[in-house]
Amino acid sequence: MTAAPGAVPLRVAVIGSGPAGIYTADALAKSGRAVEVDVIDLLPTPYGLVRYGVAPDHQKIKSITRTLHEVLETPGVRFLGNTRYGADLTLDDLRAHYPAVVIATGAPHDRRLGIVGEDLPGSVSAPEVVAWYSGRPGSVAPPLHARSVAVIGAGNVALDIARVFAKGSAGLAMTDMPEHVHDAFRSVAVTDVHLVIRRGPADVKFTPLELREMAALPGVGVIVEPADVAIEAAATLPAEAKRPVRTMTELFATWAGAAPTGAPVRVTFHFLRRPVELIGTDHVEAIRLERCVPDGAGGVTGTGETETIPAELVVRSVGYRGAPVADLPFDQATATLPHQTGRVVRSAGVGVAGVELAGVYVAGWIKRGPTGVIGTNKADAAETVRTLLADAESGRLRPVSEERDAVISLLDSRGVDYTLWDGWLRLDAAELEAGRLAGRDRTKLGELEHMLRIARRPRQ
Ligand code: NAP
Repeated sequence: MTAAPGAVPLRVAVIGSGPAGIYTADALAKSGRAVEVDVIDLLPTPYGLVRYGVAPDHQKIKSITRTLHEVLETPGVRFLGNTRYGADLTLDDLRAHYPAVVIATGAPHDRRLGIVGEDLPGSVSAPEVVAWYSGRPGSVAPPLHARSVAVIGAGNVALDIARVFAKGSAGLAMTDMPEHVHDAFRSVAVTDVHLVIRRGPADVKFTPLELREMAALPGVGVIVEPADVAIEAAATLPAEAKRPVRTMTELFATWAGAAPTGAPVRVTFHFLRRPVELIGTDHVEAIRLERCVPDGAGGVTGTGETETIPAELVVRSVGYRGAPVADLPFDQATATLPHQTGRVVRSAGVGVAGVELAGVYVAGWIKRGPTGVIGTNKADAAETVRTLLADAESGRLRPVSEERDAVISLLDSRGVDYTLWDGWLRLDAAELEAGRLAGRDRTKLGELEHMLRIARRPRQ
């Protein structure tokens, strides 16, 4: 849609340049109103979890980057990198420069298990591991000497991590991981990956495509104990069970009936086991699991019977968790910003109307929790933008007197080392060139200071 000529542009700051933030910018740009959207990120790179969350061997999923790139090139949309909300720009600063602010900061933290040994070295969270192998600046490598890795959780992130460690260096050679991550993987010699799943085969949160991929990996054998799947054989599933559930329970049943392949790397699915302790003195050495039975209400109860699996690396992949956003209300139970159709409110509860925070909105995982696929953010952002535009129409947004570039002058006056879109384009070109030299499509850069040297605009 083209904007009416001569209309005063609606200026919006979007905090976070992951899919939720970029789809928000896109919905604004396509709204038919003249807009000026600044998409602000704490890193000099855009794309959030598409760049630092989607597994490095899933380049096809990352092809969405092309669409996100086009949005950031749309006239009226501007990328501001290496700029930290709450420090370089506070909420008050933003409200002085933008009538509307959309928070799309995702869910960067992990959820805790609350079991003994959880903080032993060698016990790491999925967000930490994923950030590291994706080359996120500032991330730390997990201990890599493990022969046996346990991954707790039955979501696609757990499956990604299991697959990445099962593939090892050779299987990841053509991915876009930074050179230091490729180097580190050369020392990885994992022989066993254990997926620890507290419920049964019909309750996993994997998707069939990703699950099937596991059994197709060269040199990897999938192991499922026949007794584990017998409880929920596909034939006994209720008639209303969804197709993906049927497909996956059938896959598990097929694997349970298969003879061992003798493959050098084994991936074992342990159903109806919950972790009760991580064992080790100064480092994780094993994980104690308790066998569970379905409780008839969708959950499980422990049987008291335990078993121990050796594991020198334990990855807790039990879901991401939102982080509080400075100066804004936060719902600790859901780890999201309380909102009504995207408009942030001071308090919320069932049947309780919250007090609005004029001009502050939310989109993505920090709005709805860490669920859904990349595309889910499109409808989510569209809802937020509808609310924002309705508020603009009804005069609920406070006008600002500052020029658009006043925010840049403010950053300059504070000595903030912000980067712009051309900085990302230079980084992008440098990564493509590094990839070309190594015979890959791309090799990411992962060291912030090096990245900033490339992305920084020469100051006058
Ligand atoms: P998720 O899908 O919510 O899965 C979390 C898993 O952790 C569930 O199996 C859950 O089991 C388990 N869990 C939670 N608390 C636990 C505990 N205390 N002990 C043992 N297990 C526990 O989360 P995710 O894997 O982090 O994925 C996040 C989102 O990103 C999802 O929407 C996912 O589909 C998406 N994603 C998609 C792709 C892809 O499409 N390729 C790739 C990666 C991520 P219960 O079910 O029993 O609670």
